[in-house]
Amino acid sequence: MQNLKASAAMQRSVLCSLQKPMQKTLFLTTRHASTPAFTPLSASLGHVSTPTRPQARLPMSVLSLTSVMRSYFIMSLSSRPLILAASTNLLRRSLEAKPLWLFDVDRNPLLRWLLRHTFYAQFCTGESPEQNRLCTEQLRQMGYSGVIMEYAKEVLDDTGDKIAAESVEEEEANVVAWRDGLLATIRICEKGDFVGLKWSGMGGAAHRLLKTNQPPSPFMVAAMTAVCDAATAAEVKLLPAAEPQNAQASVDAWTLRMSKTYNKMRPGYAVLYNTYQTYLKSTAATLAKHLDTADKQDFTLGIKLVRGAYLHSETRHLIWDTKEETDRSYDGLASDLILSRYGVSLKSMAGSSGQLPPINMMIASHNDASVRMVRRIRDEQLAQGRVLVPLVYAQLYGMADEVSCELLQKEESNEVTSTMETPKIFKCATWGSMKDCLNYLLRRAAENKDALERTRETRDAMRLEIWRRAKAVVGID
Ligand SMILES: Cc1cc2nc3c(=O)[nH]c(=O)nc-3n(C[C@H](O)[C@H](O)[C@H](O)COP(=O)(O)OP(=O)(O)OC[C@H]3O[C@@H](n4cnc5c(N)ncnc54)[C@H](O)[C@@H]3O)c2cc1C
Repeated sequence: MQNLKASAAMQRSVLCSLQKPMQKTLFLTTRHASTPAFTPLSASLGHVSTPTRPQARLPMSVLSLTSVMRSYFIMSLSSRPLILAASTNLLRRSLEAKPLWLFDVDRNPLLRWLLRHTFYAQFCTGESPEQNRLCTEQLRQMGYSGVIMEYAKEVLDDTGDKIAAESVEEEEANVVAWRDGLLATIRICEKGDFVGLKWSGMGGAAHRLLKTNQPPSPFMVAAMTAVCDAATAAEVKLLPAAEPQNAQASVDAWTLRMSKTYNKMRPGYAVLYNTYQTYLKSTAATLAKHLDTADKQDFTLGIKLVRGAYLHSETRHLIWDTKEETDRSYDGLASDLILSRYGVSLKSMAGSSGQLPPINMMIASHNDASVRMVRRIRDEQLAQGRVLVPLVYAQLYGMADEVSCELLQKEESNEVTSTMETPKIFKCATWGSMKDCLNYLLRRAAENKDALERTRETRDAMRLEIWRRAKAVVGID
């Protein structure tokens, strides 16, 4: 593995030396105009000039031409509301297989071919474990620190209401299938990787308990324990996903229940990361409560910070009214957490010690401005010799490659200077049969719709990259 990484780094250096300096700065625009709700260290702790970032190579030169062309094509489709609506409709019909054979990806070879070479190839990493392994191996070779492995087969659709009643035997069989699937996924991970999971994936019984705010059954606890034990032994981390609000309080409780045991086995090391959706008005208070619990019960809180994926199905008044408010919430919470402080966005609870417990963080975002803000704070912290909160960045496979590639470039440029942090970057690799991935693909389509501006920026970044490569081929600047 080390050899593969070394040879990839060498290939990249050779490539760089052959490439001309980039004439156009692709990533200077900030996506959200809101002022981040944090005080930059440079203001509060005396100004520290940020060292110039060396341009080791062009950020997107690590992407294959096929991948650049496909991203351009998919993002172009996704940035046109009418075409996106038609594609979403096609995916939804395929999921429902209505009318039967015409929209059934397993029975209509033309539909299967079309989806396989477009949306599926863009966002999923393979139908079989072997295809997934090859794809994730390529990601590691490109310089990613690791992957978030996610098996797409989910019991629930996102409306979450179509769960058929199950017999006790069926309930237990579902829990066993969930446990065995995750154990198999952990086995194909490398040390340091993450595994994405859903507690509701344990089936209808789990879903009912989650929705009625009850603890998991003893049989479920045994399965959850087996998964946490295996992850701990393999040094793989677990990411229970945030789910719609009618189940989220229980999702939090189930995750904290396991965190209390597994996140105190090694000081400052979290096996489980809970997911916090910053589009919810309540998230600052939820985080403060969980931080207080972790402080009092002496465990490390794992925090995966996302904006939130259920904008159109969630109870709307629970969510900030505007995108700008969600952006402020994300940036404010991220900066307080990184700075290990109760501050502008994160308020300590009455009776709390006022000190943050140890945390491990994942910045799960495609938003260039948020990612840059986090990097800037951490570079400043590093320059001041401060201890950094363990933190990784994560993006989904097929999404925001321009953001991921810029982080990868930063990782490589730090081979030249050690004054800036070397970021740890993960891609979320979702794999499974095409039918199992349809739900996931629908969510990606919805996300592209919610973030039309970002989809267009990815499209434009890909167009510039194609143009740059075309000019390089004919030898013009
Ligand atoms: C690795 C990874 C794991 C993820 N896991 C989960 C998960 O477990 N659960 C989950 O819910 N999501 C998850 N997401 C998706 C995430 O919540 C976002 O939907 C997605 O990343 C887009 O947000 P962004 O930070 O990339 O920024 P952007 O693309 O800039 O922001 C888009 C987001 O802003 C918010 N938004 C858009 N319009 C409005 C509006 N009018 N009012 C208020 N808010 C608005 C929405 O949350 C929308 O998704 C994950 C994302 C990643 C990268």
